[in-house]
Amino acid sequence: MNAIVSKEIRLASRPVGMPTADNFELAEVTMPDLADRQVLIRNDWLTVDPYMRGRMYDMKSYVPPFQIGEPLQGGAVGEVVESRNDAFPVGTFVNHMDGWREYAINDATMLQKIDPSLAPLQTFLGALGMPGLTAYGGLLTIGQPKEGETVFVSAASGAVGQLVCQIAKIKGCRVVGSAGGKEKCDWLTEVAGIDAAVDYKACATQGELQAAVAEACPKGIDIYFENVGGDHLTTALNLANPWARIPMCGTISTYNAMEKPEGISNLSMVIGKRIRMEGFISFDYIGMADDFTRDMAGWIKSGEVKLKEDVVEGVENTPQAFMNLFTGGNFGKMLVKV
Ligand code: NDP
Repeated sequence: MNAIVSKEIRLASRPVGMPTADNFELAEVTMPDLADRQVLIRNDWLTVDPYMRGRMYDMKSYVPPFQIGEPLQGGAVGEVVESRNDAFPVGTFVNHMDGWREYAINDATMLQKIDPSLAPLQTFLGALGMPGLTAYGGLLTIGQPKEGETVFVSAASGAVGQLVCQIAKIKGCRVVGSAGGKEKCDWLTEVAGIDAAVDYKACATQGELQAAVAEACPKGIDIYFENVGGDHLTTALNLANPWARIPMCGTISTYNAMEKPEGISNLSMVIGKRIRMEGFISFDYIGMADDFTRDMAGWIKSGEVKLKEDVVEGVENTPQAFMNLFTGGNFGKMLVKV
């Protein structure tokens, strides 16, 4: 038997409303011997992402639900430390989906090699990983930004939003972001270099949010990159220009709703303004992966894209890192250093 003991986080119960620490349990497992073709990976970094909340509901979706008593899954990067697979020798760095744990055994079917010389390892869970492809694919394909257009981005300092903002700037757009709190807004304008930021938490009503966004977008909105839903979507529809595009990336304000959220009262604006709203899932853009990696790695290297990460240490703190996503407790891409 292999003597390695690995800590992992399991789903103890399905959250009702906002997730709490009780919904998770820390367990230890002794890693078994490897079978033929398997590799043992020591995870260095784990990611927590809002979509994981959807997998905590027992319902059919584009990914199957997590099971109670089982370790949670999610993106992770690490190093192969034992191998019975010639394609992935010891020392290979890999990206895979057995996160929320210290060590993982993988039969190499869903394993992607990564080149650590390209960027720090954790970048492959953020800007060079799923959130990066989400931002790049959603903005360029559905948003189709043109020079001089106004792009409004919600959850703008987060993993996806910060990249949407900076790609839109590279494409020559006027970019306005919304984020919770002055510190995040200051980072967006002073470091990420966007044109204006709105602190939505300082707005008591949808009307106040709309007034603040309208002031920051004097020529209206041509693209709204939707991460939040609710009042943000109502505001964007009211301020949208004819032929605006809305990449529907996420609606995080609804993920923990105890009751069905109310409908968007001004949805009919989509018709008169000929607005194109389109939902998408990051892996729809897997065909753009080569262009994405080349462009994003180049922009990071040249300093055109600045990265903001928020790191907690230790696998036992993964649940807290995850819960931060729903309170704005994270500032930048939320990561766990194992
Ligand atoms: P973030 O790093 O942006 O973290 C989530 C942020 O959402 C928080 O920091 C908080 O920022 C904001 N937020 C949380 N609750 C609310 C609320 N009630 N109202 C307004 N803002 C809120 O996460 P990601 O960048 O990873 O994800 C952003 C969005 O993109 C999510 O909706 C996610 O589901 C979606 N997504 C979709 C993908 C796809 O394939 N379609 C792939 C990846 C992400 P603040 O402090 O500013 O409030």
